[in-house]
Formats: sequence, C-alpha cells, structure tokens
Amino acid sequence: MSVISFSSSSPSSVESQSLLSTQTYRSTAIVANEPLDKQGQFNYEAARRYFPAQIIVDMRALTQNMKRLVAETKKYNPQTQVLGVVKADGYGHGLIASALAALAGGATWLGTAKVSEALLLRQAGIGPDRAHILGWMSSALDAPYEELILNNIDLGIGSFDAIHAACQAAQQCHTKARLHIAVDTGFGRNGFTPAEFDQALSLLQDGTQRGLLDIVGLYSHLAVADAPQNQEFVQCTDQQIESFNQFVDRMTAVGLKPQIRHLANTAATFSRPDIHFELVRPGNGFYGYEADPAMGTPADFGLVPAMSLQAQLGTIKTLPAHHAISYGRTYITDQETSIAIVPLGYADGIQRSASGSNELGSLHCDHQGGPVRVMTAQGPRLCTVSGRVCMDQFLIDLHGLASNLQVKEGDTVQLFAPGRGAKYCEPTADDWAESADTINYVIYTCLRNRIPRLYVHAKEVLSENDLQLLDQRSILS
Ligand SMILES: *Cc1c(COP(=O)(O)O)cnc(C)c1O
Repeated sequence: MSVISFSSSSPSSVESQSLLSTQTYRSTAIVANEPLDKQGQFNYEAARRYFPAQIIVDMRALTQNMKRLVAETKKYNPQTQVLGVVKADGYGHGLIASALAALAGGATWLGTAKVSEALLLRQAGIGPDRAHILGWMSSALDAPYEELILNNIDLGIGSFDAIHAACQAAQQCHTKARLHIAVDTGFGRNGFTPAEFDQALSLLQDGTQRGLLDIVGLYSHLAVADAPQNQEFVQCTDQQIESFNQFVDRMTAVGLKPQIRHLANTAATFSRPDIHFELVRPGNGFYGYEADPAMGTPADFGLVPAMSLQAQLGTIKTLPAHHAISYGRTYITDQETSIAIVPLGYADGIQRSASGSNELGSLHCDHQGGPVRVMTAQGPRLCTVSGRVCMDQFLIDLHGLASNLQVKEGDTVQLFAPGRGAKYCEPTADDWAESADTINYVIYTCLRNRIPRLYVHAKEVLSENDLQLLDQRSILS
C-alpha cells in the first residue's frame, strides 16, 4: 500500500524516474519518499478504507511557496507584507492547514472572500496576535458585522450600505470597524467607481469623525496581470494602476490617507514589483501554481504544487474491439483492451469537460480526456479519461491487457501531482485544466470535501500547538 510519489525537481531521465517510481510504488506506505510513523500509517489506511481516493497536501511545499513569495516581495521592499489568500477552503487545500502553512512561511496577513471563512480562521484559534485577517466580500444586509468586528476581522467595503452597516455595528459593540476600501480601477466587479467615490468619502469621513471607523487600507484587483507579454493587457494594468493612484490621492486629500495599499495578486507579485505597495495578495502561487501557464511553469517561479490527487482502481475488465464506453458512446475501443474504473466523478469535482472521446465514438472527434498515471509492469503509463465522466466514477482505457500490464483492482493511480506534465507521464493540474478547457484554479478548488484530504510534512513545518488545530486523522507525517 503506498502513496505514489515522484520528485519533480529530479533532472534524471524519464526512464530512470520510472524505475524509481516503480520501486516506490511497490514498497509499503511511502509518502514523498519518507516512511510514515505508526499513527500516520494508521490514518492513511483508515482514509483508504472509507474512500477510494485521497487528496494529499504537502505542507512543506505550501510553506516553501510562501517563503518564496515573501522573499520575492522583500527583495524590492523589506517593509512590504504578504497576505496569504486562503479563500475557497484554501483553494481546496483546506482552510486551516493552508492558513497555518502561510503563517509558517512568513505571511502576516490572511485573506478570504467570504467573511464566514474569515470567522472560521479566528474560531480555529488563529488570533489577532498572529495574523491580520481580511474578509473582502460581505452583503451589507446580512453579514454579522458585530461578530466580525469583535473578532478583529478587517472588512473589505465597497458599497454605501456596507459603510452604514459597519458604522452601525461599530456603535453597537463600542469597537471601531477596521475597513479596507475597495475601489473599481477597471475590473468592473467589487468596489466604488471613480464617479461614486466622493459620496463614499464623505460617508467615511463622517464615520471616522464619529470614532466608528478606522480606515486601514485601500485596495483593488487586477484583471489581466497574468499576461505580461501582451502589450494591450499591460496597458490595461497600467491604466488600473493610474486609476488606483488617483483614488489614493483623493483619499489623502480629504485626510483619509490609507495606511495599507494593496493591489497585487500572484501574477503581479512576480511581474510588477512597482505595485507591491504595503501589501501583496498572492493566492495561486502559494499553492504552487503560476497564475497562467503562458507565464511559465511553477518551477520557473520556484514554486512547487502542493496538492496530489490519487485514487484506487475499481473493477478492471477486458472488452472486445468496437465496444462503447460510458454515457453517450463517445469513446469506442479500437481493439481488445482492458478498461479500469477510477472511482472519482463529477460529484467529487472531476470536471465533466475532461471527458475523453475518440473518432470511433458518437461525436466522431478526438478529445483527450484528463490524464491518469498508472503503474504497470512496463513502468508508468499515461492513460486518459475514456468516455464521459460520470457522477462517481470515470473509466480509463489501459491500451493493453491488464494481465500483461499487471494492473490490478485496488492499485493506486495518480491524477495529478507536482511534475513535468503529461508528456513525461507526470500529469499536473495544468494538464487537467487543459483537457477540461478551464484554468488550474478550478481543478483543485472544485474537489469536494468527501475526498479525504491528508497532510504530509505537517509535523515538519508546524509547531506542536498549530498541529493541534488540524483534524488529527488528516495528519500523515
Ligand atoms: C483571489 C484573489 C486574489 C489572489 O489571486 P491569485 O491569482 O490566486 O494570486 C487576490 N485578491 C483578490 C481580491 C482575490 O479575489
């Protein structure tokens, strides 16, 4: 029983890597080439018994990615702080574990979109002594402003109603609300437009004079920072920056100079040091991915993807040539071949658009399904989703007979992990994104919580106290 792993940084050839991986695969319970202790082994086996797939998150990779982002930021200005974006359950990596890894890596701020997640961080035990927490999405009518204020959560505010709600709550709980003003510099989403900003400023001045508001920050979001090669997009970013600076000037002019300006996401953290200001807000880079494959591979940025997704094969059987596979008959076997069930489907967050079809099938077109690394007697083999992804499962054509390949029910296969890509038989989330015609963010944020999420190297990077904040059954090492 093992967690398949392979080193992405190894410069060795595909062949020698295959050999290494075959050995790793045949040995017992090896995670990232390190043996598990007794408790880790127990947790891993328990997780496997109740669910035939696992998300493995490498806490060392997360921490090192954050260190990398912090170093990149401090290189230009040692004063600039880093906010680890942990929205959407830490991009699917787990909210609390991601937050703790971000802090271990040197982030001093944490940020979520939904304020419920900001509260969960405080409730888990991450106090104001350890991190500022910013929640930047709330509905003025329903958000628990008082609870947020009393929990020392900074609020991203971008509507008149939200200013009123923050003032009212601050008055009720006799504590100033710490606000970050959201401005729309061209994204067309959150924040005040230049046209409505005067009115916003007068409300903010009023709230400040009444001792209810502490105007901490000003922020905006970039639309096309992930395309530094595209001149048109670079111009758009330049315009957004100019607009942002005008907002800063307008605040300063009325005596509300923002202490903390923030605008940079992962892409801008790497490509636009001129706009790091006092704080940067990287998300995807922290999880080990570049913002856009056009910008380069994770390795180009010194990042390591933290998540691997693996599953144990279900039924394997041999079908004759010209046999249809799955709904819609979009994939037809071209010869006698073995087919294996991978027990993950769209209800687990596997994108249905990563289904695979071939010319013989009802669509009469080839579409490469999501890649799966299968260990065979001949070394690792790249299979792809064959036919439509179903609710709880999909199928892969092994392109050979399971008996020859020595592929068996219960074998562990890998959907993605850090690696060089499908063409090296090291499928990544980027490969899945390409197959599903989407972005890598979607691949990991959409994985459902019913898949056990297990952590390796947690004991290495977290303090005793922080380890206690995690679900103990999820810790492998
Ligand atoms: C998601 C998000 C980020 C992080 O973006 P990445 O591309 O993942 O680095 C930063 N700021 C805001 C407002 C966001 O919504």
